[in-house]
Amino acid sequence: MIESRESEVHAFNLIAREKAIEAAAEIDKAVASGRDPGPLAGVPVALKDNLCTRGLATTCSSRILEGWEPPYDATVVERLAAAGAVVVGKTNLDEFAMGSSTEHSAFGPTHNPHDLTRVPGGSSGGSAAAVAAGFAPIALGSDTGGSIRQPASLCGVVGVKPTYGLVSRYGLIAFASSFDQIGPFANDVADAALTLEVIGGHDPLDSTSIPSQVPDLAKNLDRGVEGLRVGLVRELLEGIDEDVVSRVHEVADLFSSAGAEVDFVSVPAVEYGLTAYYLIAPAEASSNLARYDGVRYGMRAEGADVKLMNSSTRRSGFGDEVIARVMLGTFALSAGYYDAYYGKAQKVRTLTRRDFDAAYANHDVLLSPTSPSVAFKFGERSDPMSMYRCDTCTVPSNLIGDPAMSIPFGTGAYDMPVGVQVMAPQLGESLMFQTASFIESQAPVGGTP
Ligand code: GLN
Repeated sequence: MIESRESEVHAFNLIAREKAIEAAAEIDKAVASGRDPGPLAGVPVALKDNLCTRGLATTCSSRILEGWEPPYDATVVERLAAAGAVVVGKTNLDEFAMGSSTEHSAFGPTHNPHDLTRVPGGSSGGSAAAVAAGFAPIALGSDTGGSIRQPASLCGVVGVKPTYGLVSRYGLIAFASSFDQIGPFANDVADAALTLEVIGGHDPLDSTSIPSQVPDLAKNLDRGVEGLRVGLVRELLEGIDEDVVSRVHEVADLFSSAGAEVDFVSVPAVEYGLTAYYLIAPAEASSNLARYDGVRYGMRAEGADVKLMNSSTRRSGFGDEVIARVMLGTFALSAGYYDAYYGKAQKVRTLTRRDFDAAYANHDVLLSPTSPSVAFKFGERSDPMSMYRCDTCTVPSNLIGDPAMSIPFGTGAYDMPVGVQVMAPQLGESLMFQTASFIESQAPVGGTP
């Protein structure tokens, strides 16, 4: 499957053919000797190329990491291996996970398997496309401001951002540490639930890891939605393409018909979500990316002294979007501007938390579109602001650490997939998956690549 379409889709930065064959042979041995091969025995998994894999190049789709091989596996990679999954490759992304289309990858973009002239979304576009094209039934991505959910929506697959701290970030190359969270892509809700059960749970190697296990997600999937209190977030239906909004309304009607209580709910602070995100994320990135100095990792450009070597490495190793973010972040944190920008953005975070708490006081889950539009054409969002607007519906959950997921629901303009977002309170994954499973059971059929 990978061989037949990868040349046109370009989901992968690296295909781990030999290693995958070796790992599969090990699973065969385990089965032959009567050992339990694990819940994901032999299942091919694609990993976003910002997850550390021991001895396997990890690039973040950046020139600056070219040639670097991590000396250790990310916790999620270890857990997948222990469950019997087989890593088939590392997937393409926007450089350092900054973007919403994979057009910022240093190695060229990924193409949407449903229409090769359109983007797969981003930044985990390679992982979303790998699942949509049938290259792997499961993939992992990272979601800092929507990078799992938005590409899942654009590629017509399921994508989950778990509660912050539910999945260990150990071995995920840091972008904005107070937002970053790893999660699964899958063809259906049940596979996503199983994968989250495997990768989630406490890890002493990540200080922000929640000291509890992932709840049993699979067991609630068929419980239905009767009596469920569902809120449609009013502010997240504004400025959204009509084809997408009408799909979300269809879903809301299906909930009502199934006995759920559906109403509109207002979460006013989401209006400032994008602005706050695009101050805090670059601020954290400017600090996290300071480590790429030409000494410790990957490439080095020549310079007459250490300082010049350092700056020429960074100038030639980072792409324009990464450089812009580092500069914005450094500015937002600089003396005299800190309170006006970074400090204010943190206040928006608190306001957002309060508004969502108020919404959850009388709702179990919230609904919105995942992305303001279906997949767009390459080059269509060359102005940074128009690209940043792709994240309107997804950043609120990152600002407050709540779980959210995207479920495919039919198609919109150009016959491209539409995703509906379900949001839940912290550690509300069980109810979120139950809700998602209902949406999936009602989804119109069609739109396969
Ligand atoms: N599109 C957002 C950004 O560019 C989100 C990225 C992400 O979630 N990694 O920052």
